Amino acid sequence: MHILSTPIEYLKGVGPAKAELLKKEVSIFTYGDLLQYYPFRYIDKSKVFNISDISDDMPYIQLKGKIIQFEEIGQKRSKRLVAKFKDKTGLIDLVWFKGVRWIKSYLKLNQDYLIFGKPTSFKGKFNIAHPEVELYEDNFKRNALQAVYHSTDKLNAKGLNSKAIGLLIKKMLPFLKDKIEETLSKKLIEKLNLPQKEQAMFNIHFPVNHKELIRSQKRIKFDELFFLQLHLIKTKISRKNKSKGYTLNKIGDTFNDFYNNSLPFELTNAQKRVIKEIRKDVKGHYQMNRLLQGDVGSGKTLVALLCMLIAIDNGFQSCLMAPTEILSIQHFTTIVDFMKNQNVNIQLLTGSTKTKQRKIIHEDLLNGKIDILIGTHALLEDKVKFSNLAFVVIDEQHRFGVAQRAKLWTKNNFPPHILVMTATPIPRTLSMTLYGDLDVSIIDELPPGRKAIKTIWKSDSSRLQIIKFIKEQIYLKRQVYIVFPLIEESEKLDYKNLMEGYNSLVREFPLPDFQVSIVHGKMKSEDKEYEMKRFVDGITDIMVATTVIEVGVNVPNASVMIIESAERFGLSQLHQLRGRVGRGSEQSYCLLVSGNKISNEGKTRLKTMVDTNDGFKISEVDLKLRGPGDIMGTKQSGILDFKLADLIKDNKILQYARAEALKILEADPNLDLAENINISRFYRPYAREKVGWSRIS
Ligand code: ADP
Ligand code: MG
Repeated sequence: MHILSTPIEYLKGVGPAKAELLKKEVSIFTYGDLLQYYPFRYIDKSKVFNISDISDDMPYIQLKGKIIQFEEIGQKRSKRLVAKFKDKTGLIDLVWFKGVRWIKSYLKLNQDYLIFGKPTSFKGKFNIAHPEVELYEDNFKRNALQAVYHSTDKLNAKGLNSKAIGLLIKKMLPFLKDKIEETLSKKLIEKLNLPQKEQAMFNIHFPVNHKELIRSQKRIKFDELFFLQLHLIKTKISRKNKSKGYTLNKIGDTFNDFYNNSLPFELTNAQKRVIKEIRKDVKGHYQMNRLLQGDVGSGKTLVALLCMLIAIDNGFQSCLMAPTEILSIQHFTTIVDFMKNQNVNIQLLTGSTKTKQRKIIHEDLLNGKIDILIGTHALLEDKVKFSNLAFVVIDEQHRFGVAQRAKLWTKNNFPPHILVMTATPIPRTLSMTLYGDLDVSIIDELPPGRKAIKTIWKSDSSRLQIIKFIKEQIYLKRQVYIVFPLIEESEKLDYKNLMEGYNSLVREFPLPDFQVSIVHGKMKSEDKEYEMKRFVDGITDIMVATTVIEVGVNVPNASVMIIESAERFGLSQLHQLRGRVGRGSEQSYCLLVSGNKISNEGKTRLKTMVDTNDGFKISEVDLKLRGPGDIMGTKQSGILDFKLADLIKDNKILQYARAEALKILEADPNLDLAENINISRFYRPYAREKVGWSRIS
């Protein structure tokens, strides 16, 4: 067993109870975990401030001086101990609300102390509450930068605060001396002027100085990013070499007939380019794995359809999977309509497909009668088997979990070509990592004639004005969406708000002049479908809904999107919702209605929406606000589980890491060369752990 795998309870001072807590609270099971429990910040203890220099907004500071007086003031709950602390420049109060007796017996008057804490001002005077106090010793050599570790309430209660964790690490390090294997090649370390791995890992806990700390952090971040990039690139190369795909090299009647005779408009240049890119992939002999990014309304569905027609022309089946029933139905109707003059068998399979129909579909898939199958997760069920599935389209991919996507691979002996489509633009930084083994196509152009959506932020109190505006738009024969939030935690209240909103709307917009539809997740799917259809067909003027309509729905005549409690939505969700309008040639509007109490982050979100229609810009802001972990279900997949690296802040290191990984694999694709032995030794087990997700996306 390697020393790093030593169970944490073997460390002196840990013991079974503390070990249990460390495991439960912060996932520290072994020496290795503790070593990688990196500090989240450092405090500079090399600097001693003068009391007279204290000002507002100071971080934690250190002072040197004497306590000249103790005083207990206040009654009962406001009872506190105040010590007058004096240095050669002035006086400041130290305050304790707890542990008064102990403090008084432990601290002596007129003794030289170093105290450490954050000054706050109270009634024009500064004080420091619950400072750290230690005896000042002249010749004592102290570590200038002291690591601070995250602790939790439960850990704190058992005495495992930041300081105690630091002590545990200090105790452990001597056992690890010369035991931490180098993971990079000598060449790379020299080239990038990085410290050795062991040196970096020790130094991050006990930095000798600021400069070395930065170098050590850089080294560890580089490792994290480098091995992930190495893995992504390697997976991509080996997929291209190994996994053969179906050859779809023919363009035949199905495609040509549609393209020449039925296509109601000219493709945009971006659509044409993307189709070319896809054709190039599927003509070859390897299996395509491509991500298609295009803002809402950019016409991805049509691209998907044209590709599926190519599959048909080569004698193969395709399927299109969407995350919601409504969206699948819409894809189905659109595509059936596009194909009305052609002999193509298209079927819909969702959770609510009747058993009898389901059986027929299962059979017709196997005997090859069905050309295109459209549906929800229902497509992933084991019973759904194709006779020759060659092309798979996954719409709005971030809605599907990684494991679900993996299932599509098992549908054939030969993996089908996979086109993943998303309207949530992913910043390059993230897509490089998240989809590092995918090829990426981008539709960066909207069909001509679209007017930019006007986005307006209104407060609740403008209700009358909003109603007047809706009426004007309906008199102009436009349709309106009104969306209410529905967040799991406050589901009950949200439904109540939704129904109240609906009822008051019905009062404001009475029959027969106005027709109001409602769709929410608790309705039966046939009712949802019925209401949705009435709106799509222009029978109803207003669609009141929760975010079930968020993805994909296409009603070109709808020109107003009103989002209630807009401050509660995430940015990418807001952008998706806004994308439901602006699909026709009319001027469209998005009204963000918010309360008055909004967090700063909420304000930034709404302001960003008002400022830009550009999905890529929005996703950059979103990434900054939320951090990559929360985006697109990456959290549960663990792909971005870096201990230290941050995809945004460490973008430069990421670029280096990727470039170096590429270079190494170009020269040594299997990491066989002696000079890469360190890298390959670390990489092999690493790759085994990551195998689950890399194949799929
Ligand atoms: P998304 O990329 O958001 O999925 P859709 O595929 O739903 O967008 O397309 C939005 C609308 O634009 C649809 O009504 C579609 O028919 C239309 N459309 C697609 N391509 C073009 C084009 N080249 N010219 C005009 N309209 C187009
Ligand atoms: Mg779409």
